[in-house]
Amino acid sequence: MTANILFAGHPDAWPAYEPLLKAELARLGVDSDLRNEFAPEEVDYIVYAPSGPVSDFTPFTRLKAVLSLWAGVEKIVPVVPAELPLTRMVDSGLEQGMTEWVVGHTLRYHLGMDAHILGQNGHWEPKAPPLAKDRSVTVLGLGALGTASAKALAVLGFQVSGWSRSQKDIAGITCHSGAEGLKAALAQAEIVILLLPDTPATENTLNAETLALLPKGARILNPGRGPLIDDDALLAALDSGQVGHDTLDVFRVEPLPPEHPYWAHPNVTVTPHIASETRESTAAEVIAENIRRTEAGEPLLHLVDRSLGY
Ligand code: NAP
Repeated sequence: MTANILFAGHPDAWPAYEPLLKAELARLGVDSDLRNEFAPEEVDYIVYAPSGPVSDFTPFTRLKAVLSLWAGVEKIVPVVPAELPLTRMVDSGLEQGMTEWVVGHTLRYHLGMDAHILGQNGHWEPKAPPLAKDRSVTVLGLGALGTASAKALAVLGFQVSGWSRSQKDIAGITCHSGAEGLKAALAQAEIVILLLPDTPATENTLNAETLALLPKGARILNPGRGPLIDDDALLAALDSGQVGHDTLDVFRVEPLPPEHPYWAHPNVTVTPHIASETRESTAAEVIAENIRRTEAGEPLLHLVDRSLGY
């Protein structure tokens, strides 16, 4: 039977996705009809983003799965009926983009680029940075993006630790889990990178108590989600010098409101949620493969665990 697929991502993305998805579905031999408009009761699969046209799933009475174009699903989990399979986006383009953002901003801190490029004010003050092997970096979240980023940092020679819900064993990374593991992961962290999902269990992972565990002057990169950090606690830690500098890509409210203190703080860099984005060509492969799997009765890749919220 023909699988009817509704593209319900952002309307501007349809022209790019249509030929890529159609080609990939044909390559995989999936008998399908892909459109950006369908009578809801005829739809088998929704390719989904919250920025698209679908917010109410009740008219879609024969859906087999919802396939998210986004990696972070905190806005999607509450709206997709719990009994429907929901997959999130894991693809090589997202991993490569995030790895580049994390490595670039880590090297800015590690090499002291601001001091050497911007801050000399005509003074010749040679102070070489340590080697990466003498710099400790911690990645909170060792999923698709955290693991890819941690591995790239380890290749550069950094001492890399990571923390996740379940215990991992990754070559070259010191892996921690659980509440005690978080303390151990933070205690040595000169640079902390947040790549956790936004769930009730991860909210305010960095708070007054956990920020106090960091070595004084630690740097923080947050390309994960805004609610992972208690903003008031972070601003206090910046003002006391406990935290030396942050680079924040994600916020509780986006766009970050003009009056937010992060904009004006001298020790905060704001980037506008650009750390990594879903790339159409690699995303189309993942979506088409999951439709093929469902039609063939095989298990879906990258299923969201609805009880955990990621
Ligand atoms: P993922 O594969 O689901 O990995 C999530 C990691 O967080 C896993 O290691 C997981 O542990 C860990 N984790 C979850 N809950 C935890 C808890 N309560 N305590 C400790 N560890 C916990 O997700 P991903 O693909 O790497 O993406 C991570 C996040 O990046 C996304 O959720 C999204 O918010 C964000 N993101 C941002 C951008 C951007 O442009 N800024 C782009 C894409 C994604 P287990 O391994 O034990 O499950």
